[in-house]
Amino acid sequence: MANPPHIAFISSAGFTHLFPVIQFSKRLLHLHRDLHITCIIPILESLPSSSQSYLQSLPPNIHSIFLPPVHKHDMPENVHRGAQVQLTVTLSLPYIRQELESLISRSSLVALVTDCFAHEALDFAVEFNLLSFMYLPYASMIFSLYFCNSMKLDDAKFRGLSPESIDIPPCIPDRGREIVESLYDELVLKQFFERAKKLSLIDGVLFNSFFELETETIRSLQEETKGKRPQIYPVGPIIQGRSDNETNGLGSNCLTWLNNQPTKSVVYVSFGSGGTLSQEQLNELAFGLELSGKKFLWVVRPPSDDPSAAYLSASGDQKNPLDFLPDGFLERTKDRGLVVPLWAPQISILSHGSVGGFLSHCGWNSTMESIVHGVPIIAWPLFAEQRMNAAFLTDCLKVALWPEANNQRSGMVERDEIANVIIRFMEGEEGRDVHKRMQDLKDSAANALKENGSSTQTLSQFVMKLRARA
Ligand code: UDP
Repeated sequence: MANPPHIAFISSAGFTHLFPVIQFSKRLLHLHRDLHITCIIPILESLPSSSQSYLQSLPPNIHSIFLPPVHKHDMPENVHRGAQVQLTVTLSLPYIRQELESLISRSSLVALVTDCFAHEALDFAVEFNLLSFMYLPYASMIFSLYFCNSMKLDDAKFRGLSPESIDIPPCIPDRGREIVESLYDELVLKQFFERAKKLSLIDGVLFNSFFELETETIRSLQEETKGKRPQIYPVGPIIQGRSDNETNGLGSNCLTWLNNQPTKSVVYVSFGSGGTLSQEQLNELAFGLELSGKKFLWVVRPPSDDPSAAYLSASGDQKNPLDFLPDGFLERTKDRGLVVPLWAPQISILSHGSVGGFLSHCGWNSTMESIVHGVPIIAWPLFAEQRMNAAFLTDCLKVALWPEANNQRSGMVERDEIANVIIRFMEGEEGRDVHKRMQDLKDSAANALKENGSSTQTLSQFVMKLRARA
């Protein structure tokens, strides 16, 4: 009998590039227990505190290898945060190669699966004759965006790199087409085209979506990639379990507080692992929550004019976020609001019966978590692909309301608009419709994960491919 296949996963820097890869490997092992998995983890400066506590919950059958940290002073000056994620992997490549060589010498390694920002490591799959896969913790729309730009790297180099040179596939809704604006600088654009090119050369792409959620997009991608590289595998929704998310006991006061609130009465407010508001926007949100008169649980971060400021910080958490709230806000709202500094156990919150809505930056992980728990969304995208996700949730799935920004005030979402949307969402007819549709989506998500569900079957096809190589 063949040896059980061994797979090496390679993440990239930052919590949101680490935990989806590990969560995916946990799901794989849950369904196919004999597989062997090793996670190779590149680090920028030091592991973020969120990653440290998350990794404490790693099951013993997932081995992890921490690479020597890369330092910002080894990178060119003024490299944008988004580009640093990939550069960390670039600078870690010699160590990744070394670790792979060592794994190959003592096990039946058959495949490499990388985060999309770690795609350069997939060159080792060619060198060592391994199967090559990327795990995209995103919607299939993102894969589609990469796929339709997969032949353009040389052209873009030749003509000069600009966001206008990016083709946008029709599956991306109109209000989400500004996604290319997040690809503003030359290095970020070059990295985008490199990732897109690599996708067309590898064996397969797995992504965190499911057939019933993005039926048309997935169907047309399946047709386009039939018999070609890469094969596509929608395997979601894959989200953290409650125990992964509550490892350090932090935030247990949130749950105690929620236990004392009426069913579906609370709006949970959070902007992901690093999303940050300006001081002015923070004030407007505080006053908006206050004016709405509704209950809220708000995870607050110190303000910054750069919305992704806290994204890669290991422990840039020294300032007390509560010091930045409007005077008297905590006192005035103490009977109906709870403010939590920096981090909260999101999964436990979303699965709590008292939560009736999620004011979210629409990161894809948060989006999936909300769908799995049937919690509708107030969309507040900040950067990267979040606007596209917000448009998909609001305009296509109709499970979200999206407050309007005032463009005369540099896109500020003002307090009256915030209060108005929260009230419509929590008690209006519109809100009831959105809640009902989210319940239906929750059921389809659960079906996709059943034994014969679409995503479970897709994952089995992926594993068959690994076994054929073992
Ligand atoms: N998260 C959490 N507690 C927080 C903030 C975030 O547990 O206070 C988790 C959340 O559950 C999600 C992830 O961090 O799994 C954020 O990922 P997402 O893709 O939504 O946003 P990003 O951080 O990439 O912007």
